Amino acid sequence: MSIKNEGEYFLKLKKEWMNSLPRYSKEELLKIFPEAKKIIPEKIKETEKQYLYHKNEIKRLLKKFENHKDLYFVEIFIEVFMMEDLLKYKSRLMNLKLFLKPKAKNVSGVSDEEIQIAQEYPIEKIAEQYLDLDRFGNRYKALCPFHNEKTPSFYLFTDSNRYYCFGCNEGGNVINLTMALFGIDFVNAVKMLQN
Ligand SMILES: [Zn+2]
Repeated sequence: MSIKNEGEYFLKLKKEWMNSLPRYSKEELLKIFPEAKKIIPEKIKETEKQYLYHKNEIKRLLKKFENHKDLYFVEIFIEVFMMEDLLKYKSRLMNLKLFLKPKAKNVSGVSDEEIQIAQEYPIEKIAEQYLDLDRFGNRYKALCPFHNEKTPSFYLFTDSNRYYCFGCNEGGNVINLTMALFGIDFVNAVKMLQN
């Protein structure tokens, strides 16, 4: 077994272990840990600051090198060193905000568990139905479906299962992408991503 396969093997074990744990809805979690109600608004502020900082740094770099011959290099630099953080803060922020309105999710007709399963659906499998994907490492690149362009600036990040376009700043998770590409609402996107 090569090292790479061992790594994949452990990831698989970890995933199985995570899936075997009980899944609590956000409402249940707040009952177990009511102190969170006080902490979460502070965490949202903190995370918002970090998210905006990363977003503005990326915008500043892209602006600075807009017509520069090395723009391509700057894009790669941003992608390798800055995108994961930006996406991490963005999804953390969305997740924290859901704690403040956990009921809104339940009336939507899908359970937290279904949403979780949907979020783990490989994003490239949805994207490839509409886009020509170029794979490099853990990432894919394609022409952006959200704006007109001749050189690809639309990225899929398989580690975080999210997408982002450097051209128009559209980004999100696999559910958002499914909604946009198939023109369906949240509930139908979640249902579509169950298997
Ligand atoms: Zn775009």
